[in-house]
Amino acid sequence: MTTRVWDYLPEYAEESEDILDAVRTVFESGQLILGPSVAGFEEEFAAYHGMPHCVGVDNGTNAIVLGLRALGVGPGDEVVTVSNTAAPTVIAIDQIGAVPRFVDVREDDYLMDVGAVRDAITERTKCLLPVHLYGQCVDMAPLRAVADEAGIPVFEDCAQAHGARQDGRLAGTFGDAAAFSFYPTKVLGAYGDGGATISARPETDAALRRLRFYGMEDVYYVVETPGYNARLDAVQAEILRRKLTRLDSYTEGRRAVAARYAEALGDTELVLPTVNPGNEHVHYVYVVRHPERDRILTALKAHDIALNISYPWPVHTMKGFAHLGYGAGDLPVTEKLAGEIFSLPMYPSLPTSVQDRVIAALREVLGAG
Ligand SMILES: *Cc1c(COP(=O)(O)O)cnc(C)c1O
Repeated sequence: MTTRVWDYLPEYAEESEDILDAVRTVFESGQLILGPSVAGFEEEFAAYHGMPHCVGVDNGTNAIVLGLRALGVGPGDEVVTVSNTAAPTVIAIDQIGAVPRFVDVREDDYLMDVGAVRDAITERTKCLLPVHLYGQCVDMAPLRAVADEAGIPVFEDCAQAHGARQDGRLAGTFGDAAAFSFYPTKVLGAYGDGGATISARPETDAALRRLRFYGMEDVYYVVETPGYNARLDAVQAEILRRKLTRLDSYTEGRRAVAARYAEALGDTELVLPTVNPGNEHVHYVYVVRHPERDRILTALKAHDIALNISYPWPVHTMKGFAHLGYGAGDLPVTEKLAGEIFSLPMYPSLPTSVQDRVIAALREVLGAG
């Protein structure tokens, strides 16, 4: 059987009773849209973070779209972010007519080079959008300082960082708002699509609630500003409530898998992930690096091991974003990394036998015996 980087079936085998009970709870509740499961999840997810507000939405991309709009970002406004991210970060900015301004990432941790942010700010900049890529937080204290100096909000893309911490604080609690995805592969994954935006201020929360419900407010059927249909599904919300109680055990499981990789591959030529001081990494993906990446991946295929690359093409070099005016050579670190990184299988219930197979094959391919 081909080894894959992610598989939900081992988790489902363990949790199926609870998951199916969640489905039954919603089906028997008499309320299929919003209702107590969505409200309950919103309350519990906000409480987990110690944030006052949470709005459940239909996916992580829309969590960013609605969050940016709720923070007052609109057409022509600039948003400072990174190109070394999942394309949806940039799609969301582009979709509302705002303009992504990319800063490069650091070569050691693949995260936003916060030191480059101040120079990327112009008078049209309306938001800083750090991405806690792979499950580790961007340096938030200096980023917050730059934002405060410029008088603009910080909106965290936490789609890969549920439960990650920096200096004891959870990802998503540093900014004015933060977006989460519950796409099934994520650290907190639904059994389908889902997303949420947590926020610090009541007016942001109110705007998010309008935007996900067609733009309607107290009086149904009256639209002040046209919004979206972007509600979190009640079944997914109830499943997420159950899984939220296990989030910390999921992140522990991921850290254990990461520790085994570090132990078994630390003496090879692979560059393994680093964890910055003060950071608690949740290892959404376990990204390693080697200048001969493509040769290694081809050789692993002969061992029936298919690995992923997160991400093979930097967003700023994609044809679909040519209109942003960036090209090859503009973000040298991002572009270099894209040619060298690949991801090892990573999920909390990854069977040890599968991990050992991957480790053995990698050591052989790398000539490390
Ligand atoms: C997954 C992801 C998204 C988008 O989430 P969806 O639920 O797939 O729409 C956005 N940003 C990052 C960094 C992601 O990893």
